[in-house]
Amino acid sequence: MVDTAERALVQTQLEDLRGACSSGFGTLPGEEVVSYYPPEMERHAHLFGLAGTNIDGTQWSVGDADVRFPLHSICKVFTYGLALEDNGRDETMRRVGVEPSGDPFNSITFDEVNHRPFNPMINAGALVAANLVRGGDRDERVARLLDRYRTYAGNPDLQVDQDILAAQLVSNDRNLGISYLMRSLGMLDGDIEDNLFVYLSACSITVTAAELSVMGATLAHGGRNPLTGDRALAREYTRSIISVMTMCGMYDAAGEWTHDVGIPAKSGVSGGIMAAIPAYFGLGVYSPGLDRHGNSVRGVAVCRELSARFGLHVFADPSESQFGRVAQPELT
Ligand code: GLN
Repeated sequence: MVDTAERALVQTQLEDLRGACSSGFGTLPGEEVVSYYPPEMERHAHLFGLAGTNIDGTQWSVGDADVRFPLHSICKVFTYGLALEDNGRDETMRRVGVEPSGDPFNSITFDEVNHRPFNPMINAGALVAANLVRGGDRDERVARLLDRYRTYAGNPDLQVDQDILAAQLVSNDRNLGISYLMRSLGMLDGDIEDNLFVYLSACSITVTAAELSVMGATLAHGGRNPLTGDRALAREYTRSIISVMTMCGMYDAAGEWTHDVGIPAKSGVSGGIMAAIPAYFGLGVYSPGLDRHGNSVRGVAVCRELSARFGLHVFADPSESQFGRVAQPELT
């Protein structure tokens, strides 16, 4: 169990980081807001929430960690998880790869050699993952996804925000284009509108940064929610998901992210970032201003600093950091 001193140290550091990353943008390359999604979310520019959940159940939260926002691309992680469970590794791999594309999330590019989208963290691959989720009709597929998402978050009240879904369904030309192309190439089956409904419903599920940190902790905990003890995903698939997050989770900045920050993570254009450090903890961040890749500007900044102070980079020696890895549960 995390002791009181460790808990207080992390809380103080999170508060310090939130303050440090709230101002001073534009001073480092890439630290500038270039857009908000949707643009009217600029009115939420001031929001900045940060939360952590240790796999032993200890939680931290700072700032606007209880404000709800849609998952958007963060949903791709959990939808891929259910696709893996429903179809197994080999069939899922046949339909969607695990290679970083280096292209923006909504690019119209495919792995021509293997006849599939590059990975499930870009829209093309996420649409195939949604296609792989089983169910009698689109409502049943959404209900199955929602049920899993609730288990990851430990909140039985998670919902699809119908206004956000409706807005996405009417401004969806690019995803429609990608879908029709994939169907013509034999990469996608069935009704395209239904599949988009499933994918966009998952994008429209709203969470808080605090819940996002629990979802990350569930992945870090081998697929079992550390607060409720409920299983959200078969253990054997967590490794697949976390690997793909590491290589492809931060859009076309994934390489730089893994190089500099080194934490498996997934971002969404609503300004959320979820991170999962295996056998350690989950992190949830919310701040709506986006950089040119579509990643939260403050979210990236805070994760970079957190990684440096606490030695979180998965490929680095934690002893090089200021504090090292505090509050890391012992593996039994
Ligand atoms: N709902 C958005 C879309 O598909 C999600 C995109 C994102 O977060 N990058 O287009």
